[in-house]
Formats: sequence, C-alpha cells, structure tokens
Amino acid sequence: MPTIVSQGRSGVSGIPLPPVPNVLVLGGTTEASALAEALAARGLSATLSYAGRVERPRAQPVPVRIGGFGGVTGLQRHLRENRVTHLVDATHPFAATMSAHALAAARNGGVPHLRLTRPAWRAQAGDRWRHVADIEAAVAALAGPPRRVMLALGRMHVGAFAAQPQHHYLLRFVDRADLAPVLPHHDLVVDRGPFTAAADLDLLREHAIDIVVCKNAGGSGAQAKLVAARELGLPVLMIDRPADPGGKAVHRVDEVMDWLDHGAHRGV
Ligand code: NAP
Repeated sequence: MPTIVSQGRSGVSGIPLPPVPNVLVLGGTTEASALAEALAARGLSATLSYAGRVERPRAQPVPVRIGGFGGVTGLQRHLRENRVTHLVDATHPFAATMSAHALAAARNGGVPHLRLTRPAWRAQAGDRWRHVADIEAAVAALAGPPRRVMLALGRMHVGAFAAQPQHHYLLRFVDRADLAPVLPHHDLVVDRGPFTAAADLDLLREHAIDIVVCKNAGGSGAQAKLVAARELGLPVLMIDRPADPGGKAVHRVDEVMDWLDHGAHRGV
C-alpha cells in the first residue's frame, strides 16, 4: 500500500487542485517566528521545528516540534508520515547541514521547498571589517597580545576560543549556560534581543571592547553591534557565510506566502 504524500483535490473541471497546505517550517530564527505568525493568521496548517539548542524557545502560534530528524532519510520520513505539502527552510544562514538536508529530503520526496533567509550584511563607509572564512580562521586571527573581545557567537562556538586564552571575552547568550564557558577571562550577558544600536554602544563602552567577532548572520536585530562598532571605530572580525546551500530562496515572509498561494506547485 503506497504512502499518501499529499491529498489530491479535483476542481470543477476535473483538473487536480494543489493540495491543502500543510507546511513544515525549519526554524530557530526571527524570520521563522514571523512566518509562523503569518501562517497562523491565515489559518494554514503549519508546524515549526526547532533543533532544541535553546532551553526556552519563545511561545509560537503554531504547533512546535523539537529535535533533529535523523539526517536526510529521517526528514524524508517525517515529511511523508506527516503529509507535509511544503517545506520552508527558515534556519539560520550558518545552519548549513540542516539546509543541505532539507533540500535533499524535499527533492527526494517531491515536496516543494523554499528557503527564507536574510540578506548578508555588507560593509559600509566607516566599517573596519576583516573577513575570515570560518570559526577556526577567526580564532587564528586573534593571535597576539591580550585584548577585550566581544564574541557575538552562539555558545556552541565559544570553546574554540580557548585556544586564545589571553583575551578577556564578552559573551552574550540567549539563556544562561549550564556550564561556565571554558574561557578563563570572560563576562556573560544573558539577553535574547533584538538589540538596539544605542544599547550595544553602551555595552561596548561599558566593557571597554577593542574588537568584535561575529558571523555574517544578516538581519536587523543582530546588526546593532555592527552599528555600535562603526560608531566607536572598532575593528570587526566578520566570519563569512558558508556556501549557498542551493534551491530557491527569498528574503521576506510575504514572498513565502505568495509562493504558497501561487508558485510552489508550479515548480516555481
Ligand atoms: P546545523 O549544524 O545545520 O544542523 C545540525 C543538525 O541539527 C541537523 O542535521 C539536524 O539534525 C538538527 N537541526 C538543525 N536545525 C533544526 C531544526 N530547525 N529542526 C530540527 N532539527 C534541526 O544547525 P546549527 O547551526 O547547529 O543550528 C541549529 C539551530 O539553531 C537551527 O534551527 C538554526 O536555525 C538555529 N540557529 C543557528 C545559528 C548558527 O549560528 N548556526 C544561529 C542562530 C540560530 P538531524 O540531521 O538529526 O535532522
């Protein structure tokens, strides 16, 4: 007995109508939460998926599932068993593994797929950015005398900076770490954002920061530290994005809604 992937509908002319949407949103970002709001407002069936990295994810207007799927085959099974009609990958631009899995599972399972992603930040006049390819390159670039470093990175990457223990690090996490970060000298601020340039200016001044290290995440909420660094003339070590995972991508929630309405089942 074949598994039903989508429920076909017939229009008056007998031409099959697109399936009633049942959207799986891969989340963990502000954009995914905004999309969940839009889907709920339209009364569409949708589920938001989290990896489970954050202790207390924000409340959502659609059902939430938490945890990995078990690679491409696990996600493919999930799409099939839950009759997902549309897969929207709204993960962070640095969540390269999840994005690659999403594209592969969607293609294998014949499920329309779209990526909702933020445009990358671009340096402006007054910015003092040094681009590095990845976390390891950022760690290597910090070799030298002690400095006061704002490490604007998720907690999973902080351990790598123990290789440069001479610096004093300012960390900002969404929730308090269970284990003290391995860095010998650090201050930890717990805050979820979005952040303002004025508040980040105060933060950089208060902690006498000499250099900011961050990923090129894009988006407005996390941009405040870059505006503040520009204002203070501070250097920024900018970790560039991993390679584009491929597939169709848009930057705005209304473009996803439009795709759901018109584009997805025409292969657009
Ligand atoms: P990743 O390295 O690309 O993914 C590692 C594994 O985590 C995936 O293979 C998948 O496990 C699971 N996973 C990731 N995102 C998931 C999701 N939304 N739902 C269910 N499972 C998920 O991802 P990451 O960089 O660790 O990021 C994890 C999560 O944090 C993502 O949701 C991302 O949007 C969010 N986030 C990441 C960053 C960042 O800088 N990387 C920043 C802010 C937020 P299986 O293979 O078992 O399916």
